[in-house]
Amino acid sequence: MKGIGRNDLCWCGSGKKYKKCHLDRALQESGNAWDAVEANKKAFHEKRCFARDAGLGSCEGKIIKAHTVSRGPNLTKIAKNGKVVRYNANPAELTKNGGKLTASEVGIGDASVFYGFCAGHDRRLFSCIENEPFIGRPDQCLTVAYRTLSREFYGKHAGSHLRETLRNADRGKPLVEQIKLQNLLELIDQGNELAKKDLQNTHSKLTQALIDGRADVLRSMVIEFERTLPFMFAGAWSPFTDFFGHNLQNGYSDEPLEQIFISSFAGTASQICISWMDQTDAPGQVIADQICKLPLAQQASACLQFAVKHVENVFYDPAWFAALSSEQRKQLDLLAASGVDIKGSVPSAVVRLDLDFELPMVTRAFVVSGDNNGD
Ligand SMILES: [Zn+2]
Ligand SMILES: [Zn+2]
Repeated sequence: MKGIGRNDLCWCGSGKKYKKCHLDRALQESGNAWDAVEANKKAFHEKRCFARDAGLGSCEGKIIKAHTVSRGPNLTKIAKNGKVVRYNANPAELTKNGGKLTASEVGIGDASVFYGFCAGHDRRLFSCIENEPFIGRPDQCLTVAYRTLSREFYGKHAGSHLRETLRNADRGKPLVEQIKLQNLLELIDQGNELAKKDLQNTHSKLTQALIDGRADVLRSMVIEFERTLPFMFAGAWSPFTDFFGHNLQNGYSDEPLEQIFISSFAGTASQICISWMDQTDAPGQVIADQICKLPLAQQASACLQFAVKHVENVFYDPAWFAALSSEQRKQLDLLAASGVDIKGSVPSAVVRLDLDFELPMVTRAFVVSGDNNGD
């Protein structure tokens, strides 16, 4: 490259000297970028307790595998021989299978775990959802939202390492391709950092609410079903689009983005809990209202499809999943693959209300505001 000396800092921003970085990059042996991403994911298990020094008491014991979906009273209900089914939602999988994701069984001990809490905090903070049935109490809704957001936040931390992993993925490629890739990595990195900031902002608020016992920072809609739902999910994200795929909030303003939290519980009667920070025009409230206005018989199918579209942590009862019709399966495949790319695109697949997943009927829905928990 003209105008850059061997000992100058490389143009790609790695902080290394040009001669140690992109000089002769086009002549270097190329590797498989996706293999690098997968290796990074597996090797990267940052262990940290999110509740450490946060005002929630002291840490105790080792950092353990914390669960994102409630394991004890819930995940076991939909498991067969200790296993549930999930989609392998990563871009490498998509590339390998020509745009389709595969689904496979996973042991419930390994389903949706992350190294985000020490043994003591995990036990103390989440006891109200792990050891008691979920009944939509304000403190339970707050605890679920906190844990779900911690998991997403954890994922963004892992995402920060992606750039370093892929920095060498342009080996053996011509200069034009090198610049394209490095620009793309820069964009992904900026997006990831911004998303991290939004989540950080809300995570701090939820942590403070836990400390103060103020479950009223959150509002939730709890939908109850007559039988056990054959799936479980938990996820939080900053919604750019509503239930119907229309724009809600864009990422261009300086205002931090608002999140929606969704989770489900597979008790004798199942619940789906949709939460948002209590403020006017919260995107989460818009979406919860849209879902609750649908015919009662459609709501479970709608929630399932909406979750599969936006959330990585969705687990299915293996028998139920195996019995899906080809049309139902095709739709879940499509939704699960939507938005799965390294850029973190907004999922755009359409939720099909005409497609019936033959799920339990709604028995009631109620709003949880936190004002009614009597403390
Ligand atoms: Zn370089
Ligand atoms: Zn701790």
